Formats: sequence, structure tokens, C-alpha cells
Amino acid sequence: MNRSNTLFTEAKEILPGGVNSPVRAFSRVGGEPVYFNRGKGAYLFDEDGKAYIDYIGSWGPMIAGHAHPKVISAVQQAAENGLGFGAPTEIETTLAKKIRQHMPTMELMRMVNSGTEATMSALRVARGFTGRDKIVKFEGCYHGHSDGLLVKAGSGALTLGEPDSAGVPQPIAEQTLTLPFNDVNALNTLFSHIGEQIAAVIVEPVAGNMGMVLPVPGFLTGLKKICEDYGALLIFDEVMTGFRVGLAGAQGLFSIQPDLTTLGKVIGGGLPVGAFGGRREVMESVAPLGPVYQAGTLSGNPLAMASGIATMSIIEQPDFFPDLEAKTNDFMHRLEVLASDRGVPLATTSLGGMFGFFFSNEKPISNFTQVLNSNTENFNTFFQHMLAAGVNLAPSPFESGFVSGAHTEQEFSATLNAADAAFKNI
Ligand SMILES: *Cc1c(COP(=O)(O)O)cnc(C)c1O
Repeated sequence: MNRSNTLFTEAKEILPGGVNSPVRAFSRVGGEPVYFNRGKGAYLFDEDGKAYIDYIGSWGPMIAGHAHPKVISAVQQAAENGLGFGAPTEIETTLAKKIRQHMPTMELMRMVNSGTEATMSALRVARGFTGRDKIVKFEGCYHGHSDGLLVKAGSGALTLGEPDSAGVPQPIAEQTLTLPFNDVNALNTLFSHIGEQIAAVIVEPVAGNMGMVLPVPGFLTGLKKICEDYGALLIFDEVMTGFRVGLAGAQGLFSIQPDLTTLGKVIGGGLPVGAFGGRREVMESVAPLGPVYQAGTLSGNPLAMASGIATMSIIEQPDFFPDLEAKTNDFMHRLEVLASDRGVPLATTSLGGMFGFFFSNEKPISNFTQVLNSNTENFNTFFQHMLAAGVNLAPSPFESGFVSGAHTEQEFSATLNAADAAFKNI
């Protein structure tokens, strides 16, 4: 027994499954979770002092690397002045302006405490603004755990959604329609039948919660056009991709202007922050300006804002994203070559500081059905070997990976060496 095992046993006595978020429990890959107590740069250290090269980055926020001195000192300074006032502060505006500077579609925005809150609130705004109830989402996309988003497709394209979790009432699930990702035709068909009832289409513009799946050419522009034609709002859920695939998010890379955008992860630099925002006239429906209620005791917390601002200042450096993208790209390219040399079918993707790989012959992977057909047994074998070798990958074949500004060639070559050994076992 190592210390992680002991701690996990103890945790299971008091936390459901021993965790505060299910993926952490390792149920997808087997074995028990590693307990970390420290992070620095590209590394995490477990309770027994073993170092791991980290590609989870707290599931995305740690784009500057763990415990970046500038972020830590900004948070420390903010803490000295008090942990929160429940009143407006200047730094809320500072962070909001930074966000809007890079993402001009966020004309008016509100800070919240998580990605889940951001998407839940954005949908309420879309419904309040359009006066319509139905929303559309795509298979394999994750938008947080609010009732209306824990919904799976019914048995046909035009059938009503069904709860994807116990505790979600059927009448709520019915308001959500789920279509295949990257399929504009399915969306066209749906809108031609009930387009006037649809308040919003919500999408991860680059899907990151079924592994990483890029939009096929024409998908995002198609969504934009259909929404415009029918007066529905297009919501880009950039909780993961915002300030991760590029400084202007996926919307900047693909030159699409969504009506609303949701953010999280990177904008908090590791502390709990989310945001939703978009077209001024739409966001003017939010209280106190308009009739859509939304509030938060801790929203805009000064420590969280300070962490976000410091993180943003780091990634705003002109070389940051070009470097991050080049090294992430190169890393995935070398991984794919290595796998191919060992006769292991592997399809890799990357954009900015985000990457994904599937044990699959199909390239590219562009929808959830293909994702589910990838070889998860191979993934699990690979994952366990990598973890033992001191490489921390997401404990599920359906997650993305993240590279930070702190990762260097030293970490990539060590990772690729470990991967080479792991591929020999597949
Ligand atoms: C992580 C994530 C969320 C949920 O954010 P939380 O902060 O975990 O509530 C929503 N949407 C996307 C695209 C995400 O990646």
C-alpha cells in the first residue's frame, strides 16, 4: 500500500466513491487514484514524493504550469487584502476587459464560479431572450451537469431527449434535443421541423469531452447560418477551448461569431471561475438590467479574479501561443510516428495547447460513434504503463490532454520514451 491507497480508503468512508468529481475515481481505467500534494511547472508530486509529468493541468486551467510564481504572488497579494467583500471590485472589470479584448463577441459578460454555472445561465438567457424553450446539443459534448444538459438523444433524430442521469425530470430532458456532432444535415432537418421552438444551439466548437474532436469544415459555419435563419442563438461553450486553443478561442480560430459564449477553466488560472457573455442586446436581459435572474454570492471573487488576470497576462505574451501550439503539435506528431513504428493504430489531434489521441485506425475521428469504436482496452493498458512511468494522463479515453507553457523538450522526450515502452505492451 502506498499513501495514495491509504488516503483513498479513508476518503471512501466520507466522500461518494472517495472523490468530489467522478472521473477522478479511476473507474474508467481501473486501479486507484493517485493523491497529489504539490505541483510545480510541468510536474505533479504524489503523497509518496514521486514526480509525474502532468498532462491534465487540473483539466485545463493550468496553462501557465503549476504554481507559476506570477500567479501565486498575485493570489497571495489579493489574499492579504481580504478574501471577498460581496461587493463590486475593480479587478472584476479588469478581467472582463481582458477577456473582451481577445474575444470581442463577449460585449457584455457576467462572472460565475464554474463552467456548469456558465452554461446553465447562458441557456436561461437564451430562453429568456427568445421566449422559446427547446435547446439543441451534440452527442459527446459535455456542458456541465445542470439538469437540462444531462440529456441523451432519444431513439431518432426528431425524438425528444431522455435523462442521462437519475434525478433529471423527463419534462426537463424533453426540452433538449441531441444531434450527432459534425452533422449539419441533421441540424437542418431538425430546424425545418421545429426551428421556431428552438432557443439555442449549444456546442463545444472543438469537442474536448469525448477525447478531442475537431469540427469538420462547414460544421460551425452551418450552425451559425441555421441559427440566424431561425432566430435561435448560437452558444459556443468555450469553457475548455477558451484561451486554450488560441488567445481568441475557437471562435477566433474559425472566425465565427457566436451570440453567447461560456468560459471557465483557463480564465480562473486554477481557482473557481466561469463566465458567460455575448451580444449586448442579449446580455441586457440579465438581472438587474432585464428579466432573467442570475446571481452568485462568491461570483467575481477577488482571489479568483487575481489568479485569472495573472494567468491571462502570461498567455498574452506574443510568443506564448505560437510556442505552445508548436510544441504540442510536435509532441502529438512524434507520438503518432512512434505508435506507427510499433504497429499500434493511433489517431492524434492537437490545437493550441490541447491534444487528443484515439487508439483507432480511423482518421480523422469526427463524431461520438467513432470515438466509442476506438480501442479503450489499448488506452487502459497505455494509461497504466504511462502512470507507472511517471506520466499523468487523464484517466479516461474520452478526455483531452493539456500542455502548459512549462513543458519543455525534456518532458516531451521522457514522455515519448515512456510511450515507446508502453506501445510495446499493446
Ligand atoms: C469543464 C467543462 C464544463 C464544466 O465546467 P465545470 O467548471 O466543471 O463546471 C462545461 N463545458 C465544457 C466544454 C467543459 O470542458
